[in-house]
Amino acid sequence: MKNKELKILLSAPRGFCAGVERAIEIVEKSIQKFGAPVYVRHEIVHNKYVVDDLKNKGAIFVEELEEIKDKSRPVIFSAHGVPKKIPEDAKNYKMTYVDATCPLVSKVHREAENLNKAGYHIILIGHENHPEVIGTMGQLDEGSIDLIQNEEDALNYQNKPDKKLAYITQTTLSVDDTKEIIKILKNKFSNIKEPMKEDICYATTNRQMAVKNIAKNCDMFFVIGSRNSSNSEFYYLDSSGAAKKITTAEVFKNHKTIVIGVPGAFTKVCSAKHLPGYINNYEAAKNKGVTKIICVSVNDPNVMKAWGESQKVEGKIFMAADPYCEFTKSIGAEIDRHDRGQGMRSARYTMLIDDNVVKKIQAEEDTATCEISAAQNFLKLI
Ligand code: SF4
Repeated sequence: MKNKELKILLSAPRGFCAGVERAIEIVEKSIQKFGAPVYVRHEIVHNKYVVDDLKNKGAIFVEELEEIKDKSRPVIFSAHGVPKKIPEDAKNYKMTYVDATCPLVSKVHREAENLNKAGYHIILIGHENHPEVIGTMGQLDEGSIDLIQNEEDALNYQNKPDKKLAYITQTTLSVDDTKEIIKILKNKFSNIKEPMKEDICYATTNRQMAVKNIAKNCDMFFVIGSRNSSNSEFYYLDSSGAAKKITTAEVFKNHKTIVIGVPGAFTKVCSAKHLPGYINNYEAAKNKGVTKIICVSVNDPNVMKAWGESQKVEGKIFMAADPYCEFTKSIGAEIDRHDRGQGMRSARYTMLIDDNVVKKIQAEEDTATCEISAAQNFLKLI
């Protein structure tokens, strides 16, 4: 890298969408109008610099209204939108509130209400626990909306008897992934009602297109953003054998983590070299300040646990399953092996993540090779 000339391409459009810019402006204008402090329910945008700047100007960020000590002060709801109950609670507390929900999210809320009034049962395609999904599901009585997160959920979905079915989506999803989920739903339920107009917003769609167009000309892509703006999740089995989920943000927070990405559990090079290399060099990694090692594969959590036991990882390595290939896709390491009957797989790589920031990644050209990603070589680089 040292002597190479770097050509940097900038993706366009990029940066904040209009909905987020509007929400930031609402907070700033509210501080001017009401004076400090004003409360903001949920981070107005997943960006530390903006949040810190607003804090300096007099915003106090909270997750719930109950946390607000001085209820005589105004509260602002973020661009993601809130369940109906929240403005009602604010009224009951006699609080002044300002709703900064993005109009494109409000459009989905109204869509859900109208479908419900017209007698439809609603499927929401989105990410569990995302504030926008919580807000959209909270527009209607519990049980009126079912959440589908991925293709498997769509394949397993059973319609309620005698119910007309409609779907809506979160505004910030991957266009390609959502297309596949919709295809499955339409195949299963030929009369399913679609949104009049695409729910994934133009800002999300444009930015994904821009990334796709520019990616073919790049050797490496840097995404400048906040550490906590990620939705990927790992699956694992707890000590009782129950399947659990954990977000990547939680896994990597406050840790210096080595991530071993392998094409498959129990496969030759992964079992003979890649994973055992890190088990054998566990102490050496600790001496380099590494506080966690995780092994990730596009497999289910049962397989990862069984593989970890057979390799005697014995608490040294956290065996993380990425069954829907979400994390693997999010770092661009997915390999399509449908032609070999293996579905989606991961490239072979090793990466160092320091408190949610990727510091180093060594990816092999070929999944059958384990050289630059192998423990004895990778540990020399960190
Ligand atoms: S719906 Fe789109 S434009 Fe609105 S806040 Fe979300 S990402 Fe931004």
